[in-house]
Amino acid sequence: MIRPGIRSLPAYQVAESSGMIKLDAMENPYPLPEALKKEWLKQLEDVQVNRYPDSRTTALRKKIAALDSLKAEQVLLGNGSDEIIQMLLIAVEQGACAVVSPSFTMYDLISRWLNRPVSTVPLGSDFSLDPARFLKVCAREKASIAFLACPNNPTGNMWPKETLREITSNFNGIVVIDEAYAAFAEASYTDLIASNVLILRTFSKLGWAALRLGYILGHPEAIAHLEKIRLPYNINSLTQASANVFLDHYSEFENQAKTICEERSRMYKALQRMSRVEVFPSQANFLLFRIAGADKIFHKLYARKILIKNLHSPNGLLKNCLRLTIGLPEENNLFLNVLEEILA
Ligand SMILES: *Cc1c(COP(=O)(O)O)cnc(C)c1O
Repeated sequence: MIRPGIRSLPAYQVAESSGMIKLDAMENPYPLPEALKKEWLKQLEDVQVNRYPDSRTTALRKKIAALDSLKAEQVLLGNGSDEIIQMLLIAVEQGACAVVSPSFTMYDLISRWLNRPVSTVPLGSDFSLDPARFLKVCAREKASIAFLACPNNPTGNMWPKETLREITSNFNGIVVIDEAYAAFAEASYTDLIASNVLILRTFSKLGWAALRLGYILGHPEAIAHLEKIRLPYNINSLTQASANVFLDHYSEFENQAKTICEERSRMYKALQRMSRVEVFPSQANFLLFRIAGADKIFHKLYARKILIKNLHSPNGLLKNCLRLTIGLPEENNLFLNVLEEILA
């Protein structure tokens, strides 16, 4: 029979989005450039759908490693970075999983699937992270793994490198720095990689959400152990072929990320000018903002076919908070116009 810990879980909810202007899931709104699309489809023609995928993925891992001047044996691929979070939580020795709150919910959720206790350290009211407080909770609750999203989702801010250095050098376990938003941030912390420090990334937010491809960077020994619990064919052949083409044209996606960052500053300023809105600085492809009556405003936007993310809960740091993914300029403008109409 089903374990009580699983029985008591709520089902993971994905909002109904057909026919909506989708600004809820941190997707890149830009389509593939036409020439790249042609080349991509041509490569897909050669995929042998009757054969199992390449399980070693050496060429692909080499290309991904090269983005950060690392070696193929320092890269492990996952069916989305979610799958890698699951692998880490399977592999790491007993002990709590330490997370901050608010942060990405999958660390907490997958820990529960696996019967692993979770230690939650609240962020400050300005969403800052106090490393001494974090370490104290980790020691008290015997945490063996910690996840720190940087930039953090849903708050959009980054932890200073000094904060992470203090945590990684004093934590008695594995620290995973989740850089899902690295493409939109002004810094990346790959230089903190150590025997107990890994960097998690994904291509989802950069424009390949449908491919489900994530990766983790670390010391070859740590990667080799994780490889043992990777399901043999976790990266399907269509994803491998697609990623191989896209990585050869990586600058196209980096340029799109740059445009998204420019839109982010424009939208930040526009929201800042609205007197009832408190918008928080962001190093990701979304903006978190607070507004009185957030719940109602979310539903009014939804009724006007605009889907963003409602993070409001009556108590806690995200009271009256909504999260807006940066979309195409015309989608962003529509959002601003409709929000102004709702507030008028
Ligand atoms: C979106 C997100 C992920 C998951 O990305 P996938 O590769 O699509 O599974 C991981 N971490 C954070 C912080 C995210 O926001």
